Amino acid sequence: MRITDLRATPVTVPLEAPLRHANGCHWGRFVRTIVEVETDEGLIGLGEMGGGGESATAAFEAIKPYLIGRDPSRLEELRFLIANPTASLYNNRTQIMAAIEFACLDLLGQRWGVPVSEILGGRLRDRVPFASYLFFRYPLPENGACEVRTKEQLVDEALRLKAQYGFTTHKLKGGVFAPDYELACYRALAEALPEDTFRFDPNGVWSAEQAIWFGRQIEDLRNDYLEDPVFGMHGLRRVREKVRVPLATNTVVVNFEQLSANVLNTAADVILLDTTFWGGIRPCLKAAGICETFQLGVAVHSSGELGIQLATILHLGAVLPNLTVAADAHYHHLLDDVIEGGKLPYEHGTIAVPTGPGLGVRLDRDKLAEYHELFLRLGPYPYDQDPLRPGWTPLVPNDRWADPNDQRIPQVVR
Ligand SMILES: [Mg+2]
Repeated sequence: MRITDLRATPVTVPLEAPLRHANGCHWGRFVRTIVEVETDEGLIGLGEMGGGGESATAAFEAIKPYLIGRDPSRLEELRFLIANPTASLYNNRTQIMAAIEFACLDLLGQRWGVPVSEILGGRLRDRVPFASYLFFRYPLPENGACEVRTKEQLVDEALRLKAQYGFTTHKLKGGVFAPDYELACYRALAEALPEDTFRFDPNGVWSAEQAIWFGRQIEDLRNDYLEDPVFGMHGLRRVREKVRVPLATNTVVVNFEQLSANVLNTAADVILLDTTFWGGIRPCLKAAGICETFQLGVAVHSSGELGIQLATILHLGAVLPNLTVAADAHYHHLLDDVIEGGKLPYEHGTIAVPTGPGLGVRLDRDKLAEYHELFLRLGPYPYDQDPLRPGWTPLVPNDRWADPNDQRIPQVVR
């Protein structure tokens, strides 16, 4: 089988509401680039990539000449061709490689008539559990609905998501408001859902002292972990010395160099694997093997996903022996998807691992066209900007918190 063509299509899919985070906001929509790798046998493999609210089409166009004529089963060859570590100073193509790997694994699964999880070692579980992934949210401009700003709104939203999807693990994305305000919100969640487990992620914007203070205030709760309370491995080590809650990261251990440093002098107890950040599903499996050896925990990170990327998370989650906590996904915040049959359904907080050949999801061409049109109409959005604070940027450590009493509504379109 040989690769004959590659197509990249940017799409915009609306979210239920704008999602606020430490660096800004997802402005009511996700921009994703859908990748199709065609072969001489007529099979099409699917990949997907994010990109901070922008299209990644140009990056895939640039890689096309590298791929034409290649055998999609030669994944290690492709890794060195596209993302050779010694050539990556100029063109870091790790995320590009990830989308190509997804597409190649999808092709191989289709060709061999097996799901990707069977290529990766075989399923250990048929369903992957997910966390609720709660965000502070701006209200919708059309009717003021969907706001999550106060702890009452946050608890209501967690209860709604639990009732609708069955989540028993809840992640709160913080770093938006001052730490004492977010602590009250997190504790209110834990009080409202006493049977469930929790994780908190301020995206690394606290000082070590703030992180130590916050970590000590939550030691009595059912925490899976405290995620990226500070930015940097040395900061995490300082916090870890003084806080009795496992620390996790998806920001400073995202490659094998950093993982080896974390093994030798531990900064994070739990490594959040991301099929895009690590360059594919297979590097995540490799990293999980290292974590298994050194008894570090693993979890699964979400950098935003439509159904194709979600399928990579599901196949990864299916084969990881040491996945002992729920995975993260933004998926339930989306209003729609570009895959046949619409959004994959949750049941009891879990999603079934696809059993069809390859990734087990196929493109709905009408949806792809519809959401490509929406991308063309709305264009990119600056994910690291807050629509209500033009020009604002957080410091690290931050002291430019949003005001929890600010009830203005941003006029975002989606
Ligand atoms: Mg994180």
